[in-house]
Amino acid sequence: MSTLILGGGVTGLAAAWHLQRRGEAVEVWEAQEAVGGWMKTLPWDGGHFEVGPQGVLWQKGTAVDRMFSALDLPFNAPGKGARWVGKGGRLIPVPASPFGLLASPLMPLSAKLRMMLEPFIAVRPLEPEEGLSAFAARRLGPGVARDLLPAMVAGILAAPPEVLSVDAIPKLTQWEAKGSLVAGVRKGGISHMVVPVGGMGQLPIRLAQHVASVRTGLRASSLERLADGRWRAAGGGAVREADRVVLALPAYEAAALLGPVAPASAEALAAIPYTTVDLWHSRHTPLPRLKDGFGFLIHPPEGGGYLGSLVPSWMDPQSAPAGLMQLRSFVGGAFPKGPDLDRWEGLFARLKGWLPELGEPAAVRHERAERAIPRPEMGHRARVKAALAGLPDGLDWLSNARFGPGVRDILEGLETWMA
Ligand SMILES: Cc1cc2nc3c(=O)[nH]c(=O)nc-3n(C[C@H](O)[C@H](O)[C@H](O)COP(=O)(O)OP(=O)(O)OC[C@H]3O[C@@H](n4cnc5c(N)ncnc54)[C@H](O)[C@@H]3O)c2cc1C
Repeated sequence: MSTLILGGGVTGLAAAWHLQRRGEAVEVWEAQEAVGGWMKTLPWDGGHFEVGPQGVLWQKGTAVDRMFSALDLPFNAPGKGARWVGKGGRLIPVPASPFGLLASPLMPLSAKLRMMLEPFIAVRPLEPEEGLSAFAARRLGPGVARDLLPAMVAGILAAPPEVLSVDAIPKLTQWEAKGSLVAGVRKGGISHMVVPVGGMGQLPIRLAQHVASVRTGLRASSLERLADGRWRAAGGGAVREADRVVLALPAYEAAALLGPVAPASAEALAAIPYTTVDLWHSRHTPLPRLKDGFGFLIHPPEGGGYLGSLVPSWMDPQSAPAGLMQLRSFVGGAFPKGPDLDRWEGLFARLKGWLPELGEPAAVRHERAERAIPRPEMGHRARVKAALAGLPDGLDWLSNARFGPGVRDILEGLETWMA
């Protein structure tokens, strides 16, 4: 069986790596000059910054652990790190345990008590699809859905939970299927954010080194079925025939290629929206209160489009030159944002509102992640189902819009796909 994989992001490369380990002939085409898609680490004056993911959830004995071990990929595991939610004009620590939450000012007491009932709430059948907010309100209570969920979801999907399907975070229904969220987490174990030494970009680079044929700078522009049932892809002056073509692409890119050969799939994929988010990287004199800090997320109604800031230099000390703290601030996404947030000065004023002691930056850079994050709105389940059902034999589509938003979801989804 020969497979051509279109897309050399982490999904395409990890799929190629799995197939090759099973003895199949694989080739990857990547449109850009470098592999990795969003998972790239770029140099920046004495350090580096992440274009996309800044960590991956790792746990012993999971898909991420198996891949990192097989690739012999060293990583920094800084531990849990302090986290805060910006609410009521100040940063409130997120307690490490549900019991700690009882004493926290993050939610009213009635909401905390309701949350404690979660293990006793009946499991709901998977169908019909439920909204993400409705899921949280049903299991954890309306207080969690109102006061805690929006900031958490903004930090993952840069979108308000009210518009999202519960499938936006597939772990939730997987945990509920174990009896309750508490039981699911207890059985599944706790994961920790880790980052490969040298940055997240090391993962796709290492994967590409293990895959025999990875061609970069090659954008597929057409797909065609041959008389013998095989497939031909063409683009950038190259043509390749294979038994199978796997589109490891964002839904909108896959839709463009599938239009002529699988119109129903193309239509379903084209209907999956994507979110654009602005990322501001800045370097400052370290702040004592962020010393062991993962970062903070702002309760969206108060953020006005400023979603929060993480501290990459805590997770990955090589990202910033010695003596500097690196921040990564998220702006916009699916939330309306004030015009002040188009400029660093406006964002800096907002940052100072939460961290008054923050000093002027030693360096700043802005990156726009255009259509970077899938937005699984209500109806997502039906769209993914229609997209997969409409694919002819020999075509497949793999993506975070299918498996879940994080790298962990993708790597776990790929193991299931391979089984
Ligand atoms: C700002 C940001 C922060 C994130 N933070 C985290 C995090 O901290 N932790 C976490 O787990 N996840 C995080 N994520 C999510 C994670 O990065 C993604 O889920 C993952 O990188 C998606 O990988 P992919 O290969 O599916 O898609 P992509 O990275 O989009 O890769 C698709 C590839 O296909 C190529 N391509 C497109 N069209 C064609 C074509 N016609 N022919 C050939 N190639 C083509 C593109 O150039 C691209 O390289 C973050 C994402 C973003 C954007």
